[in-house]
Amino acid sequence: MSVLRLEHGIVLTMEPGAAPVTDGVVVIEREKIRFAGAAAQAPGTPDAEKVDCTGCVILPGLVNSHTHVAMTLLRGFADDMHLQPWLEEKIWPTEMKLKPEDVYWGALLGICEMLRGGVTCFSDMYHFFREGTEAAVEGGIRVCPSGVLLGFLPNAGDLLGEAREFVAEMQGQPRVHPMFGPHAPYTCPDALLERVVAHAAELQAPIHIHVSETRKEVEDSLKEYGETPVQRLARLGVLDQQVSAAHCVHLTHEDRAILVEKGTGIAHCGGSNLKLASGFAPIPQLLAEGAVLGLGTDGCASNNNLDMFEEMLLAGIVSKCVTGDPTAVPAEAALAMATREGARSLGLGEKIGTLTAGKQADVAVVDCRRPHLQPLHNVVSHLVYSARADDVIMTIVAGEIVYREGILERVDEAEVMAKASEAARRLTS
Ligand SMILES: [Zn+2]
Repeated sequence: MSVLRLEHGIVLTMEPGAAPVTDGVVVIEREKIRFAGAAAQAPGTPDAEKVDCTGCVILPGLVNSHTHVAMTLLRGFADDMHLQPWLEEKIWPTEMKLKPEDVYWGALLGICEMLRGGVTCFSDMYHFFREGTEAAVEGGIRVCPSGVLLGFLPNAGDLLGEAREFVAEMQGQPRVHPMFGPHAPYTCPDALLERVVAHAAELQAPIHIHVSETRKEVEDSLKEYGETPVQRLARLGVLDQQVSAAHCVHLTHEDRAILVEKGTGIAHCGGSNLKLASGFAPIPQLLAEGAVLGLGTDGCASNNNLDMFEEMLLAGIVSKCVTGDPTAVPAEAALAMATREGARSLGLGEKIGTLTAGKQADVAVVDCRRPHLQPLHNVVSHLVYSARADDVIMTIVAGEIVYREGILERVDEAEVMAKASEAARRLTS
């Protein structure tokens, strides 16, 4: 039986209310956590592979709850534009030229970046979801894949059929948690959303959807339907399913109450919302009202990286600025959004998100023996306000070390960068 013992580190289980444990140990047996806590209480493991984590923090792997990972191919391709022309003139026409192998290499590029930055799970909505998922499986990362369903496409019905087939096929596969991906209320008519709900209910699969990203989207919805996007999703029964709603920037008081009551997961994408000047989600209110909030990077065309440390920082400091309240979204809350709450927002709270015996062993190790992380007054504060993605020295998914000190164990990074650059050149030429 393979046993891994991370020892002499500071263990941050991220269980609610748990304090960091100095001289902590995490014991991993096969794909699961057997123990996480103080060395004094740790079980003996004579045959374990030992990893010395002196000076490091051992925490749950980060959960990127909303991205379009293969959009790494369009990183830096169209910046400093308004959302609609950005989408209609640049992003969507380029995406029309995508081939399945482009998505495969673009996804792998993003997966390399995320594994290096301690991300162990990501929720992805994109075209050619089979190739994107194949890349995730090869890279060893956990993925919640969903194909993107756009109601205005002539073959929307066929795509839903394909999505259903894919979800049914992938359910139960290790490290894969498939979802349905209707793009957004404004791109999906009622009939399509109702069909998605029927399939999702039947297969017990979650739904991943963009919601109320821009002010215009909400205004258009009020004009066309007499209700906000959130009200409309509630009316159509979408929110009675397990839902991950990306963005949720422009919410009314009633919208927030609906999302809290339905237990809808929210994927806050601060970096993307700031860059596209969409606004900033009311994180302090949502937290105070009991919403389930995760963090996402969104795609690389609007961020322009997949760095969850940056997202934690932004969720904290921008919320403080917007509200004029420096106590808003403290470090503990931002870190919880990137781990435990992010897992809950994807319906995976029982499986991942904390270092708890019996859960999947998705773990990140951050090296604090660096000038910008010393002295170590408060590790939670350091992780949110000072740490960077490249402070991660080890990433473990389902008990397997997939990244260790500059080396990705399963992927040839040089090949991935070359293939992705080649695909990007063809797409944008
Ligand atoms: Zn998005």
